Amino acid sequence: MVDFLVFWGVCFLITVVIGAKKGNPIAAALLALFLGPIAVIIALLSGDKNRIACPFCAEQIQKKAKVCPFCRNDV
Ligand SMILES: [Zn+2]
Repeated sequence: MVDFLVFWGVCFLITVVIGAKKGNPIAAALLALFLGPIAVIIALLSGDKNRIACPFCAEQIQKKAKVCPFCRNDV
C-alpha cells in the first residue's frame, strides 16, 4: 500500500512538472490526482499552451515569438 502511494506521488510530481512546462500546472495536478500514471501519458501527449504552430512552416514555436526561429517569417 505504501509502495502504491509512493508510485502515485511520483506520477503526480512528473505530471505537474510536465503540466507546468506546458503552461497548465493546475489542470495537470487535478488529472494526476485522479489518474496517476495515466495522467503522465496524457500530460505528455497534450498540447503545449505556451506554444503554437507557425502559420508559415507549421513548426511549434513560442506563443510570444515575433519571428519564427525556423522560417524567419514575422508571426
Ligand atoms: Zn515558421
